[in-house]
Amino acid sequence: RRAFARSTAADPCHTADGVRIELFANVGSVEDAAAAAGQGAEGSGLVRSEFLFLGRDAAPSEEEQLAAYQGIAEALPGRPVIVRLLDVGGDKPAAYIPFAAEENPALGLRGIRVGLAHPALIETQIRAILRVAPFGQCRIMLPMVASVAEIRAVRAIADRLRSELGIGDPVEIGVMVETPAAAITADLLATEADFLSIGTNDLTQYVLAMDRGNPAVAPEVDPLHPAVLRMIAETCRRGAAAGRWVGVCGGLASDPLAVPILVGLGASELSAVPGFVAEAKAIVRAVTLAEAQAHAETALNCTSAAEVRALAGAFAETRA
Ligand code: PEP
Ligand code: MG
Repeated sequence: RRAFARSTAADPCHTADGVRIELFANVGSVEDAAAAAGQGAEGSGLVRSEFLFLGRDAAPSEEEQLAAYQGIAEALPGRPVIVRLLDVGGDKPAAYIPFAAEENPALGLRGIRVGLAHPALIETQIRAILRVAPFGQCRIMLPMVASVAEIRAVRAIADRLRSELGIGDPVEIGVMVETPAAAITADLLATEADFLSIGTNDLTQYVLAMDRGNPAVAPEVDPLHPAVLRMIAETCRRGAAAGRWVGVCGGLASDPLAVPILVGLGASELSAVPGFVAEAKAIVRAVTLAEAQAHAETALNCTSAAEVRALAGAFAETRA
């Protein structure tokens, strides 16, 4: 594969013909945020806040959360930081949250459903996010959304907390698109949400109906499957039609073969692992939007993930 010219400066990323694509990083700690800044990340498109919640006996206090989010914000000065509300349940159990035994945990109480079932948990978290200075740098993102009602419920909580804290300005609230329901209703979600960010890890699991953690099906769980790409295309189209930006924060945004396809499908923000940010920027800079769109259109009509991978490999060669 061609070694693209990398830059670790926090310079804004554009396609070869000048279309803005924000290149963010996923972070799971204050140290990650510093690493992301060092790699030229323009912000964080996914703070996996579970790092504060898992592997302990009690939920973190508001002050502890505030210190962590403030540290991440300060490591990425002046750049957007998108904090995902607690995403536990399913593959991420937390001992101090009473979960009843579930026959299908992946289809049960997980993501924002947990937060809404235990509102004290997300109220504390939202207060901590709202208190980060400067106000507005940190945005809120909801995991595992399936319905518009979930966004409305969280916004009502955030509005009440803002008024208690004397904050007049609105806070940006976005949703993760990780369920087929969210993808196919992205236009409806976008009327209530400020942005959409596609979680390709879970979206792949739910579109293909294949457990992301089951080794028996693992080789088939490929987010470049045309069914997943079509869901991504649908999300981007519906989100854009409603005037909201759509990004990708799942693992697919860290796959060099996928980057031109995601841009071509309409993603205007990619949030990758910190170590891939500089390379992702270089890949975006080597392609025009029209080239990416034509390539993505071909990928949508492939019959398998393997075929998409072969196509994307050949496309990467043409950039060399
Ligand atoms: C995803 O599902 O793509 C995602 C980013 O969330 P997580 O991997 O943390 O479930
Ligand atoms: Mg997920």
